Amino acid sequence: MIMYHSTRGRCPAVSFDQALLQGFAADGGLFMPHPLPRLSQDRLDRWKHLGYVDLAKEVMGCFIDSSIVPRRDLSRLLDQSFAPFAKADPPILPLDRDGQTWVLELFHGPTLSFKDIAMGVLIRLMDYFLDQNNDQLSLILATTGDTGPAAAYAAAGRKRINCWPIFPAGMISLEQELQMTTIGAENVSPVGVKGCRNGGDDLDLVVASLFGNVQLRKRLKLSSVNSINVGRVLMQTVHYFYAYFRLVRRFGETLYFSIPAGAFGNFCGGEIARSMGLPIRFICATNKNNTLHRIFSEGIFEKMSLQRSLSSAIDIVVPYNFWRFLYLRSDADPGVVNRSLRQLTGEGRVQFDEALSEELSRGVLSTSVTDQQTLATMRDIHEQTGYLIDPHGAVAAAGAMHCRSKIPKSAQCVSVATAHPAKFPEVIKKALSPSQALPEAAFHPSLEAAKQAAVKMMTCDYEELEQRLVAEIEGRLQAQYPDT
Ligand SMILES: *Cc1c(COP(=O)(O)O)cnc(C)c1O
Repeated sequence: MIMYHSTRGRCPAVSFDQALLQGFAADGGLFMPHPLPRLSQDRLDRWKHLGYVDLAKEVMGCFIDSSIVPRRDLSRLLDQSFAPFAKADPPILPLDRDGQTWVLELFHGPTLSFKDIAMGVLIRLMDYFLDQNNDQLSLILATTGDTGPAAAYAAAGRKRINCWPIFPAGMISLEQELQMTTIGAENVSPVGVKGCRNGGDDLDLVVASLFGNVQLRKRLKLSSVNSINVGRVLMQTVHYFYAYFRLVRRFGETLYFSIPAGAFGNFCGGEIARSMGLPIRFICATNKNNTLHRIFSEGIFEKMSLQRSLSSAIDIVVPYNFWRFLYLRSDADPGVVNRSLRQLTGEGRVQFDEALSEELSRGVLSTSVTDQQTLATMRDIHEQTGYLIDPHGAVAAAGAMHCRSKIPKSAQCVSVATAHPAKFPEVIKKALSPSQALPEAAFHPSLEAAKQAAVKMMTCDYEELEQRLVAEIEGRLQAQYPDT
């Protein structure tokens, strides 16, 4: 049976259902499947012609034992989570005339960001296990962008899950806020928090404090669907396989992916696919919050202060999925992870030795993209091709251009587009010339409808957030399950 190990290696490995429901491992580490399944000729032959959802069934089947989720149930859960997608197969469009640079659109889910791809499956799987255990969960998630809407949508109406998206009031786009507050589901309770000086980082502190209290965590049945959850990362391996099979004619050719990296979960999905034997390489595209770029270019992991950018979903200074990447690249050795973690906590900085730096950056190029370059990329692509790309997709596209001279001339490169442009109309206005009317792609009917819908949310001041959340969650569990 495939088991899930903590990257810190200080607690026993668990089965898939436990890894999924617990979120964090008991020692504070992140779960990773080990050993990873390998691509075989047989798998390649079976996988290469499949549509996205069928491919997802095969890939996820490698990570989940059929004794834990029978294949028929897995198939049903995946069908259900992709049912609300406008397009289940992510489109792959050319960005240039010679067919070497492509954009992979991962935002055709119900809340228009790539977070939908994994969230629908993850929350359905959680619900499935909760049903078996006759249990319930309170999902708390601090969000500064797309995680909240995706989780709110996926959790809406699930009887065993209460969902508490908390966001810094006034610091996310109106579109993103409305996606949570107009969901109209009794079990989803968005909380707008006033007075967050450091945005999402403030909220993370409260979440960490709640999760750090083991008794409270048990009593409130807390869990998380941030990308610390291994289920998210595993589902994000599928699009790498999918794009590879669509674009490469002969297995073995190297395909490059340029990825807009924030918490690094999407990238880690790619690294897992690579470790399974998929011949791919990466461009790690960051904005001015360039922790990851410095890791790959200088071998230094240093926590800097957060800078707000136009690609807000990747404004992250501690990309926590990096520990997963480090674990994979150091042959699943928790010793390496723990040493680096100690250094980062103690000194605020890790300098990897030469051998490890080299291993970390094997097959990985990286770059840091300024806001000016993001806007210029959006404008250039729109002028040259008529295609409107969102600011995060633009960071990836700029990354692909920055690194083009470092990859073989004949190699194809896929730039990953993670959000629908309609989620960021303010940035589009800045990018396109002021006299220009916004193109049609800057709108989406679901967002226009949300502007007319009834809003439900709580607001509270940052100082009272923790207390208030505890009281609300407790009240809700009491009302639903008075005997527990
Ligand atoms: C979350 C997000 C990202 C970053 O993904 P990570 O897995 O956190 O690196 C990029 N773009 C958009 C639009 C996102 O919502």
